[in-house]
Amino acid sequence: MNRNVLLMVLILLAPLSGCRPAAQESRFELDAAQFDGQAAFAELKRFVGLGARDAGTPGAANAARYLHARLKASGLTMDIDEFVAPSPQGSTTFRNVIGRLPGTGSNLVIVASHYDTKMGIGGEFQGANDSGSSTAVVLELAGLAARAAARQKPGDTLLFVFFDGEECMEHYGAADGLQGSRHFVKQLERDGQASLVKAMILLDMVGDRHLTFTVPRNSSPKLMTWLFNAARDEDVRSMFSLYPYEIGDDHDPFLRAGIPAIDLIDFLFGSSPGRNDYWHTPEDRIDKISPESLQISGRVTVRLLNRVMEDDPRVQP
Ligand SMILES: [Zn+2]
Repeated sequence: MNRNVLLMVLILLAPLSGCRPAAQESRFELDAAQFDGQAAFAELKRFVGLGARDAGTPGAANAARYLHARLKASGLTMDIDEFVAPSPQGSTTFRNVIGRLPGTGSNLVIVASHYDTKMGIGGEFQGANDSGSSTAVVLELAGLAARAAARQKPGDTLLFVFFDGEECMEHYGAADGLQGSRHFVKQLERDGQASLVKAMILLDMVGDRHLTFTVPRNSSPKLMTWLFNAARDEDVRSMFSLYPYEIGDDHDPFLRAGIPAIDLIDFLFGSSPGRNDYWHTPEDRIDKISPESLQISGRVTVRLLNRVMEDDPRVQP
């Protein structure tokens, strides 16, 4: 090729380099492999170190402030929603902590845990699994999502919600237990936003060294299928089974409002397979939790969350 021809070729090609077709916009997706169980375990240790978090006590208020500060550092828009509701102890102050990552569309996806401890257990109750483990995993998930969102905005707005008052003081009822989630759903309905929620993914008791998820019957079938697929893809399908019973938990008010919801709970937290005898006892301590279990829970949740963002569980079938 002589110099003139080369020059001609370069001139002809030049405009092309300036108007390359834009790279196809990629989908917002989180990388499950980036969920770090050791980091979640360190998070759990710090959180449990704060002490008991019984609803309506200074310990719960302190835990709410802590969660707010932890997520603020990750770049999420943070809010503490303080409200007063009747409880067996009279009018009680509760606080939901909400981290928000705005998306480009109008839909919402909620990932949640409660953070309060069951009162009256004694023995310097840690609530390491119930509710420290899920609180730590949701904190890590929020951090992971915030880092990804700094590069590319998600399509759906992601809400990372920490509910107060999940534990009942006496008996579950209209004025006891599920306080934070009931209040949250009421607000969604009041603001006309309930129909915008694609799914609510609840984590509760997700750190047992012997991880055996027992997904309660009162979860949305489509989300169950997607969860089991996520577990299969993470090569931990055998740790997930369908529980033959319903479990009253923070996902329930969402289901009642017609919002697809699922509860990732391991309700076999005990001294031997099939038992749940550590639950709501002083035995629920950090020595029963493993970083590996937190990692599995986190990574499976990432895969489920990706599926929810990519698809829509509200669409039938
Ligand atoms: Zn509990």
